[in-house]
Amino acid sequence: MSASLDKGLNTLKEQVDSTVAAFFSSCVHCGMCADACLFYTETNDPKNTPITKTEPLRRIWKSEYTLLGRIGKIFGLNKKVDEKLLSEWETLVYDSCTLCGRCSMVCPVGNDITLMIRKTREGMAAAGYAPEGLIGATKRAVEIGSPMGVKLPALQAQIKHVEENTGLTVPVDVEGAEYMLLLSSMEIMHFPEIIGAITKIFNKAGVSWTISTEAFEATNSGIQIGVSDIAAELVQRIVDAAKKLKIKTVISPECGHGYMAIRWEGPNLIGKPFNFKVRHIVEVLDELRKDGRLKTKGMETQKLTYHDPCQISRRGGVINEPRNLINMFSENFVEMPDHGKMNWCCGAGGGVSANERADKIRLEVFQRKKDQLDEIKPDAIISACSNCRAYLEDGLEEYGMDIPLLSLTETLAEHLED
Ligand code: SF4
Ligand code: SF4
Repeated sequence: MSASLDKGLNTLKEQVDSTVAAFFSSCVHCGMCADACLFYTETNDPKNTPITKTEPLRRIWKSEYTLLGRIGKIFGLNKKVDEKLLSEWETLVYDSCTLCGRCSMVCPVGNDITLMIRKTREGMAAAGYAPEGLIGATKRAVEIGSPMGVKLPALQAQIKHVEENTGLTVPVDVEGAEYMLLLSSMEIMHFPEIIGAITKIFNKAGVSWTISTEAFEATNSGIQIGVSDIAAELVQRIVDAAKKLKIKTVISPECGHGYMAIRWEGPNLIGKPFNFKVRHIVEVLDELRKDGRLKTKGMETQKLTYHDPCQISRRGGVINEPRNLINMFSENFVEMPDHGKMNWCCGAGGGVSANERADKIRLEVFQRKKDQLDEIKPDAIISACSNCRAYLEDGLEEYGMDIPLLSLTETLAEHLED
């Protein structure tokens, strides 16, 4: 057995806890999770059933932690977790799952299937069975601080543009600021207008905020690839920067995965509670609205809809806040079918966007989003996740659909009262 396979098997064994045991013991093989997963509904391939994606972890649990499995192991009767299985499952676990959480919502016995797939990734990555694109992104996150290789000078250049365009100052490394804003590499490189939008809104509302030059990246490739040690290291960088600047609240930007990583997984990863709060930018903006610090003018008359990012709406519970904000500037808002916590994924979360090999299946399953949009035919789509925004644009282009994507924060800034 190769050293990396041995490491992978040990990592899978370490993943087995009471939650995993309860999961596999209670699964009644009803198949309901299949109909909740866009990778199954759009391909009809039984291998894309969510429960099937956890097979390597199931085999380890059965063989090592059940009486029948232990007996079977003695007589060599168990199905093995070997290189062949891991190689076959790599695409199922990484390319055909966005960790969107939809399957976990429907399981009648309450199994968090998404968590099991996430745990399966831990063993796969340790054994060396992870996509090249995601390995590269994770290396860049550790070495450079950004999965896309965005260095501080690139951020500083974008900040300079914002300051020239708005005549406002973007506060950097301000000790004692109330809020510390994180950004995603996707925003810095592809949607830098969001920095200007936040600067304008916060300036108008009199918010005390800053960006840290030591920890500005929100995305966490360690979670996506399934290496908890790296995920914890990336969280710790943010914790250290927030401590150094004496920050009260860290703001996750328009990045669904970044929000999940820092708000819900962060304290568990580093093994202790944060001494600051974490809020998504949309939550902060809605708090400003409630406090009467956000005043807008003019209404959009075009038909707008909102794409609920999985990690913000379903996994994060931030569902009403974006709608409260959209209502401030839209008089023709329509909901997609299955909106809110049961919205369908853009198809590119959970590291799929960093994995070029998954492009084909990602675009194939975009049919589900197309069907949703065809029912309401919006003039434009608003999102609060830059990854969703980029890959919805990609999918729409592939399917010949001419529907613009808008950032919630940027659209709100355009409607700010003078
Ligand atoms: S988390 Fe989402 S993409 Fe992954 S198996 Fe479940 S429903 Fe499918
Ligand atoms: S929905 Fe739950 S019980 Fe049914 S097959 Fe999937 S994991 Fe098993």
